[in-house]
Amino acid sequence: SVVITGATGHLGRLVVADLLAHGHPADRIIATGRDTDRLAALAATGVRTARVDLDDPEALGAAFRGADTLLLISGSEVGRRVVQHTNAVEAAEEAGIGHIVYTSAPRATDTTLVLAPEHKATEEVLAASGIPATILRNGWYNENYEQQIGRARESGAVIGSVGGGRVASASRQDFAEAASAVLRDPRAHAGAVYELSGDTAWTYPELARDLGEVLGREVVYQDLTPEEHLAALTGAGLDEGTAAFVVALDGNIRDGELDATSGELSRLIGRPTTPLVETLRTLA
Ligand code: NDP
Repeated sequence: SVVITGATGHLGRLVVADLLAHGHPADRIIATGRDTDRLAALAATGVRTARVDLDDPEALGAAFRGADTLLLISGSEVGRRVVQHTNAVEAAEEAGIGHIVYTSAPRATDTTLVLAPEHKATEEVLAASGIPATILRNGWYNENYEQQIGRARESGAVIGSVGGGRVASASRQDFAEAASAVLRDPRAHAGAVYELSGDTAWTYPELARDLGEVLGREVVYQDLTPEEHLAALTGAGLDEGTAAFVVALDGNIRDGELDATSGELSRLIGRPTTPLVETLRTLA
């Protein structure tokens, strides 16, 4: 069986659906998460479910028992994730799980990306565990730009401080299909570290053009200095910490930390990745 953490999330639900679509037996999928409504929706598709908090080693142990493969979808509580992921890896060791697939971040061990340290630490925990692993270093989701749609619709502008930086994003469905492909044949991917991203890297003026096309109005990209960007975000009601985080991520984009196009995602899924404009169209 394959056990999945974060199965109640956006990505996890798509992975479960793709496994089922490929004929993976539903009773050999154990979908875990905390949200009971989402777990019930997953159970309705025939898969087994377990309510598991990554902070609860006993619940992890109980859910992992008897499974061969673990998909450890990185948690969403930034700052808590190394402990949580370590709990999962330790539970996997105790349960005798033979393969772990982990969703990491681009060039996690060699990047200034502000989100990377927890992923780097988790990759190190995995390596130290000795359990065969596959690292899916997932790039940016197209869906990360969902909030820009409403803002662009109202204001005709996208603001940021990325300069000429590019983002090689792909849709969550693309990343989910890659995870599913690995889970269906884990041994073929043992030891692999995949840098997964969209096939093309776009600029923010191109993001604005795509938003304009989808919304049927003119949208422009306004590039700000990091200081101006921070002031604009806090002025719009964002708390200081979140605003600083957004500005730091834009700095990472400006520095080219999210622009690599390895082609490994399209190779894994056997088709081109989904262009940004297509995802924006489905979300608008
Ligand atoms: P979601 O926020 O939709 O899902 C997060 C999942 O993590 C949920 O299933 C949630 O469970 C689970 N989770 C979080 N904390 C815990 C916990 N303490 N115990 C158990 N489960 C927990 O994110 P996505 O599905 O969109 O993305 C998956 C992961 O990828 C994210 O968690 C994050 O690490 C990373 N990410 C990547 C992005 C990218 O652009 N590459 C963008 C955003 C996130 P529940 O809801 O049931 O509590």
